[in-house]
Amino acid sequence: TASGADRCVRAPLPVLGRDVTVPLVTGGEVAYAALDYAASAPALQRVWDDVAAYAPYYGSVHRGAGYLSQLSTDLFENARRTVAEFLGCRDGDQVVFTRSTTDSLNLLAAALPAGCEVLVFETEHHASLLPWRGARVTYLDAPRTPDEAVDALERALAGREPHGPALVCVTGASNVTGELWPVRELAAAAHAHGARIVLDAAQLAPHHPVSVTDLDVDWVAFSGHKLYAPFGSGVLAGRADWLREAEPYLAGGGASRTVSRRADGGVDVEWHDGAARHEAGSPNVIGAHAVASACKALTEEGFENLVARERHLIGKVRTGLAAVPGVRILSLFGDDAPRVGVISFVVEGWNSSHFAAALSAEYGIGVRDGLFCAHPLVRILLGGDPQAQGECGAPEAAPGEKSLNAVRVSFGAGTPDEHVERFVRATA
Ligand code: PMP
Repeated sequence: TASGADRCVRAPLPVLGRDVTVPLVTGGEVAYAALDYAASAPALQRVWDDVAAYAPYYGSVHRGAGYLSQLSTDLFENARRTVAEFLGCRDGDQVVFTRSTTDSLNLLAAALPAGCEVLVFETEHHASLLPWRGARVTYLDAPRTPDEAVDALERALAGREPHGPALVCVTGASNVTGELWPVRELAAAAHAHGARIVLDAAQLAPHHPVSVTDLDVDWVAFSGHKLYAPFGSGVLAGRADWLREAEPYLAGGGASRTVSRRADGGVDVEWHDGAARHEAGSPNVIGAHAVASACKALTEEGFENLVARERHLIGKVRTGLAAVPGVRILSLFGDDAPRVGVISFVVEGWNSSHFAAALSAEYGIGVRDGLFCAHPLVRILLGGDPQAQGECGAPEAAPGEKSLNAVRVSFGAGTPDEHVERFVRATA
């Protein structure tokens, strides 16, 4: 019977794709159960409606005098304001529209001041682990508790010489374990040692409120397609100074204020100072509009309702998996750690790729298998060697050997109970 708390859980938000059916190997068809929100979440119906309402009218931004061009410019700049509000931005913060979290972090990496050191845990998604080419990078070992993470960062920052600019990059919620990281404490540690911090909120923002002011982070990055706005937009928001002082991420029209020929035959460029400096070319207005629409929809629904519903679904999945012999849920911080709706596991005697394929073929359930673009972390969680080589979708473990990859089930605001109930039945 449903507990009192469960009875208060609200219905899922309407999303696209609810009428998609898929064939089963056993015959017949079934409604597709998308349990791979951590990779890409379906569009909220509301986001789609907003996109569709604007689609006939889009035009190029910042350039035209025509009506549609002005409409698009207003929409784009309103989207920026909506996102700034959603992220609790401070006065003077900038919201730059990018393609994705990966793009946002690469933009920040390209804007690091000279001599900047970067500190990053080895447990990060590759989007946070890899963009810092050219900088001096300190990779911190996987912590086993949130406190250990803060201590490790404190120690690394206290020990660094010389004391130049430094940036910490940390995830808010792991795309492998779903576990929440102690962002506020890590930010305090960074700032106490004169470093800055960027939050990879790709997995956090769809599930929890993210305020740069409350968390006291310098930047935040997230992707529209994980926030129910799958139209090719991402965001980097935060301090303007490093962005203003950096060379434009992309060089071209829109980023340049004036361009003139010099007497010696060369070209002089004066770049914009604001967000446009890093948004050269014609921006993805529809994508930005969609992100803003999703931000509004999530705010209106209320994160407390989203969190309550997700907790209810996490409970169902974890209870179901706990009853399956040989299942091990992957966790860095332990079973009781607060988490979002992202759960990775291995099943003894099963190759994870075959397990995921069977869920799809026999039950119409879409999950992910592999190393989830966090190879060092998944290897650590599987009890293997973080220095091992190997690709996503790793090969089969020999009988008696450890699994080399895992299954990940993930869900969110649009997930009906039936999807996770079917998953639980399928794994039983
Ligand atoms: N960070 C985390 C924690 C992620 O889960 C992902 C996507 N799996 C990314 C960054 C990269 O996001 P995108 O592929 O949208 O750039």
